[in-house]
Amino acid sequence: MELIDAMRRANQISISGLGLTFPNPIVGAVILSANGEFISEGFHARENENSVAEHAEVVALKAAGDRARGATLLVTLEPCNHHGKTPPCTDAIIRAGISRVIYALDDPHDIAHGGAAKLKAQGIDIQSGLCAQEVKEANRAWLHKILRKRSFVTAKVAATIDGYIAASMEVQNGLLRKNRAEMCIDFDMRWMR
Ligand SMILES: [Zn+2]
Repeated sequence: MELIDAMRRANQISISGLGLTFPNPIVGAVILSANGEFISEGFHARENENSVAEHAEVVALKAAGDRARGATLLVTLEPCNHHGKTPPCTDAIIRAGISRVIYALDDPHDIAHGGAAKLKAQGIDIQSGLCAQEVKEANRAWLHKILRKRSFVTAKVAATIDGYIAASMEVQNGLLRKNRAEMCIDFDMRWMR
């Protein structure tokens, strides 16, 4: 499997977590052997409000087991380096014996960043920027919140052709219902609070 295809796969599976990861970003990870064979994958998701989901890297590392030794980890976001609700992914990556980490985006978060430097200091080969634009697009609501300190807000208005929004309730409801469910999932309504 080519590295770029593995990163695209990581980004694709990360999208399964949209709407489930608040307040975290969506993240996907793929592990390849040293000669490019697919070993495992994982994404970050929360099963319900009270459960703490493992980060994508840890899900993929657990699935890989011993095969992670000497392997390449591709992950959409710089691995985290802090004790939050879960231990730092950097520790799990070092323990598993991963020899190369390729990530798309630097973690812009004040607390969680610094993972790449820590892994590098342990002799792990680090590369960043692969598929960065695609990953930015997938995480646009989270990046907006972190970088601009403001919620990502979308307004959807059902308007008449002459610019009025006060059509009969029946007409308004019909227009607003269309695509509303998909919009909620895509932008994670909780960011709007
Ligand atoms: Zn992490």
